[in-house]
Amino acid sequence: MDKTRAALFLETSFPTGNGLVVIRDDEVLLDRELRDSTGDRWYWHVRATAAQDTELRVRLARPLLLGQFGPAARTADEYHWLWPIAGPDTAFDLQIAAGTTVYASATIPYGAHEMAGFRRRLGSALWWGDLTTSEGGRGVPVVKVRAPESRRVILLTGRHHACEAMASFVLEGAIEEFVALRRDGDATARTSELIALPMMDVDGVHDGDQGKARTPWDHNRDYGPTSRYQAVSALRSMLANERRAVYALDLHTPGLRGPIEERPYVVASADPGDAETAAELLNLLNAADGRARGGSRLLLFEYEWNSSSSSGQRCCAAWLRSLPLTRLATTIEYPNAVDRGQPINPADARDFGAILMRSLLTMVE
Ligand SMILES: [Zn+2]
Repeated sequence: MDKTRAALFLETSFPTGNGLVVIRDDEVLLDRELRDSTGDRWYWHVRATAAQDTELRVRLARPLLLGQFGPAARTADEYHWLWPIAGPDTAFDLQIAAGTTVYASATIPYGAHEMAGFRRRLGSALWWGDLTTSEGGRGVPVVKVRAPESRRVILLTGRHHACEAMASFVLEGAIEEFVALRRDGDATARTSELIALPMMDVDGVHDGDQGKARTPWDHNRDYGPTSRYQAVSALRSMLANERRAVYALDLHTPGLRGPIEERPYVVASADPGDAETAAELLNLLNAADGRARGGSRLLLFEYEWNSSSSSGQRCCAAWLRSLPLTRLATTIEYPNAVDRGQPINPADARDFGAILMRSLLTMVE
């Protein structure tokens, strides 16, 4: 939706854009655009252009659309959190210099442009291809550190839920760490092939969808008896032809604000042995976590979709655990804005991804 107010132009019609904007007198009211999702979703990403120097007051239409350090704002190349100290989730002010554009979002967005930057940065260390073609006609990217003769597969998946941008920075950090470990001669990395599916819902990422809790269900609940999304069907076919042991992490982010939303955690299911596996991973993460402010937290979920024996809309990790080749498959949650009281940036998320990879490789047999 585009709205013009005097010399101010607000829009969401760009890749990863999302938002509903109402201009009322001197105030802009901003809400997230739910589209085909349901429930308490939080993602929005808008851009504002002004002809004259402008201070724009943006009021949020509902609670929990703003992290503790305000929106992430971008004037030049990089997003930064707008506030140096924590504040309420009711409103924020944007300064827009004459003739410039400011982007603002609930999180630090990550779309095809950012992924292309990662691809350039890693260069020939990675092999890139398409797993399949999405419903929207886009390639669903697959990234490998190739070693087809290796003994095992390290599988990383991300963006089953389109809006969970910070998970992509975690994924970058995990891949980079794997590449570094192989280069340095790490025995486990050298006998493993890394396969990553960085954007399972590539259309949703491009369109700026929430992606979570889609109607009738989203990409991460598409691992039941039949799959409706091309990316999920293709991943299932790929692993049907796999003969090596599989160690898998599915990367997610939770909500924006609140105690459970502002720390990383490992999600455990009620599957036999899964709580112990998740606890071991959690202990390794905590030992390596430089932030060391109470560590990650183990969550035990017994929802039907999170069980490998589920006959309904189970999630990716639960489906993976149902395969005989799988040795480990866990959902990881990393925050969208704040980690234990501190604002998080891409570098923090990449650091977390690196310790996640080191911890996972420690658990490999
Ligand atoms: Zn998610």
